[in-house]
Amino acid sequence: MHEVSLCRQLAAAVTRATGGRPVETVYLRVGELRQVVPEALEYAWTFVVRGTPLSGSVLELDHVPAVLVCDDCTVSTRLGPELGFRCPACGSARTHLTSGEEFVLTAVDVHDETPSGPSGPLGDDAQRGIPHGALSPS
Ligand SMILES: [Zn+2]
Repeated sequence: MHEVSLCRQLAAAVTRATGGRPVETVYLRVGELRQVVPEALEYAWTFVVRGTPLSGSVLELDHVPAVLVCDDCTVSTRLGPELGFRCPACGSARTHLTSGEEFVLTAVDVHDETPSGPSGPLGDDAQRGIPHGALSPS
């Protein structure tokens, strides 16, 4: 499945960028020509990151339209759903894409681990294992 392999690459990139810290939101630029189905991508993401530090994080997709530029008359056109690669202004076939093929990690929100109390550098696992209230000195 297309989305799963994209998510695996993405998860590896995010993990490299964050060094294994818990992640809240992953921001992506996704070009139109990638033909990614957002719902499928988000579903694949929850599945791929399960049991990793990225578990529970969400994807924020920024969709990038596909833009075709003519090499002959330099007109740039938003590529329509028919995906014609000829210049609509002069009919030239000498065109190239300036955007639309992106699949880029742009930013990551890392979970803020700074504790509000004096509890110190406890990881999530440690916090889960301690009953509520056990950390208070009373
Ligand atoms: Zn043209």
